[in-house]
Amino acid sequence: SQLEQVTILGATGSIGVSTLDIIARHNDKFSVFALTGYSQIDKLFEQCVAYAPRYAVVANADAAAQLTRMLKLQGNKTQVLYGEQALADVAGHVDVDTVVAAIVGAAGLVPTLAAAKQGKKILLANKESLVMAGGLFMAAVKHGGATLLPVDSEHNAIFQCLPAAYESLEHAGVSRVLLTGSGGPFRDRCRSELLNVTPEQACAHPNWSMGQKISVDSATMMNKGLEFIEACWLFNARSDQIEIVVHPQSIVHSMVEYADGSVLCQMGMPDMRTPIANCLSWPERIEAGVERLDFTRLSQLEFHAPDFERFPCLRIAIDAINQGGTTPAAINAANEEAVAAFLARKIGFLDIPSVVAQVANGWSHGEPSGLADVISADQEARALAQRYITTLK
Ligand code: NDP
Ligand code: MG
Repeated sequence: SQLEQVTILGATGSIGVSTLDIIARHNDKFSVFALTGYSQIDKLFEQCVAYAPRYAVVANADAAAQLTRMLKLQGNKTQVLYGEQALADVAGHVDVDTVVAAIVGAAGLVPTLAAAKQGKKILLANKESLVMAGGLFMAAVKHGGATLLPVDSEHNAIFQCLPAAYESLEHAGVSRVLLTGSGGPFRDRCRSELLNVTPEQACAHPNWSMGQKISVDSATMMNKGLEFIEACWLFNARSDQIEIVVHPQSIVHSMVEYADGSVLCQMGMPDMRTPIANCLSWPERIEAGVERLDFTRLSQLEFHAPDFERFPCLRIAIDAINQGGTTPAAINAANEEAVAAFLARKIGFLDIPSVVAQVANGWSHGEPSGLADVISADQEARALAQRYITTLK
């Protein structure tokens, strides 16, 4: 058939659900090839019933047996697979055109890399894979002949404001990339007010509705730090070409400044269906069901400098990409461990940047020569973070 075959890695998450919403609006263009979930079997079951993919992937054999039973009762023909290899298989499958990389965290790296090596069109939400292994990942995209499209709203905005092809930012006449961020739910809180914030407060983002991990990252502004690294790789930018700007309204999704003084921005409602639809249909445009901006009601758009004192994760991330090697992978791993400990109420909110800084300090490993080096750096950093976390209790 002529339909574009789509695999969604992390279908049961926030990005996955928004992607399925766009696909449902355009079932004359897209067909679901595979859906993957992890802990939410009931939700994945509902999605399989609605979209009838060829494959569904879950975490383990028990979950696979359970989902298979549920689907059989419905007369549904979706084949259920499980485990990490299955994630890579449905991402790299010869019949797949497009892979939406929307697993959260380091678990997204291997299947997203498989899609790159197999030359797929990749809609990248999983920024952690670029943070961990940017050099290897970009090389795999190039050699595999893949098309990498950024779903992250800021990067999608920058992508839309840059020329279609360019040798370097300088050649394109770009003088600055302005990466905007809302500042998160604690933008106006002083340090002492941050001491006792709860996971519930950290996960209540004023503008965006997202998964728990990225919500906490947004509250610590580690998300903006990870996005800084993501932007360096995606746009072949040096760190001195990117500037972080706090924009509380989340209407301007990022900007590109050119040598002649022109600044281009992309605006829209804070709704991830816009960047997802932009990538799915690229280079064309499709309806995304998103509320339009009412400019007569936008009373103000503010822009501020970020506060590196209250949000130390910003500096840690910028230093990490400048240091290079496996340092970004190490801070990403430390952050994942710290966020999990915070969500489990084992450590406080301000301990998150301490854990990340602790692992970053003195981390000196060279360039990873392959995926194995990245994975061992990730594991070593997690162990260091865990050891430090136990001293904090
Ligand atoms: P969610 O937590 O909502 O969803 C995560 C998805 O990954 C779920 O499908 C989950 O399955 C699955 N998953 C979790 N752990 C594993 C694992 N170990 N192996 C395989 N699958 C796993 O996250 P979001 O959708 O919010 O974010 C996904 C990615 O997109 C992140 O990298 C995030 O940074 C990025 N992103 C998200 C944005 C947003 O608005 N949400 C914006 C920009 C980027 P299950 O739920 O079944 O357990
Ligand atoms: Mg973003």
